[in-house]
Amino acid sequence: MKKSAADVWEDLRNQVDFLAEADGGFVFRRPEDAAPPAPAASPASAGLPPLSGCPPQTAAERKALEEIDDQVRVCKLCVLHKFRTRAVPGEGNRSAELMFIGEGPGRDEDAQGRPFVGRAGQLLRRIIAAMTFREDEVYITNMVKCRPPDNRVPHHEEIETCSPYLVRQIELIRPRVIVILGKTPTDYFAPGREGMTARRGRFGDYRGIPVMPTFHPSYLVRNEGNRELKRMVWEDMQKVMALLGRK
Ligand code: SF4
Repeated sequence: MKKSAADVWEDLRNQVDFLAEADGGFVFRRPEDAAPPAPAASPASAGLPPLSGCPPQTAAERKALEEIDDQVRVCKLCVLHKFRTRAVPGEGNRSAELMFIGEGPGRDEDAQGRPFVGRAGQLLRRIIAAMTFREDEVYITNMVKCRPPDNRVPHHEEIETCSPYLVRQIELIRPRVIVILGKTPTDYFAPGREGMTARRGRFGDYRGIPVMPTFHPSYLVRNEGNRELKRMVWEDMQKVMALLGRK
């Protein structure tokens, strides 16, 4: 999709803004600097076949992704359906090489049926632009597809009930890298006793796909003046960029 000059300028401005806030500069790592040191396989992979090395996505698989969206929009499998205005299946490129997974929809996302459109979402979209990706090149979704009441953390059983949708999305999109945003997806894909500060920035592995945990953009928004947090997120994203050959 061709962008207008105004859109290109807006993307560039967002990119520069985030880099300035992150104190990140324009120095990207070389791919060899980011080679992940044999990451541990995610327990969420247990018993599931690897996705790396699969053949290219077929038309039937693209259609299956649309069908998942339709199923999610009418899903009543867990209690969260009672609280939603609109379910939020995810959006973006259905054959993206880069996928972002957050926790769950918030108020703005619930109202619009789109992921990451509130303040935290705007920050994520600036981070994506700073990574030199267009929004229509990546795929963005959440662990649970319906908004938990009062934006509480989704319960374990809600995540377990909803996770087959996410697992299927990953199987069909087959991204080259997954970025997991915040504690909830990190607990699912890279569980551990350490806090996010210790677990972020190290590639894990989900069925052969490198998985990078980093802070959730809402945490950055809540700690707006903390440049160190932004610097750490940018450091994590540089590793992802290097792995994808973006520099
Ligand atoms: S959160 Fe997931 S499992 Fe629960 S109702 Fe929504 S789509 Fe269905």
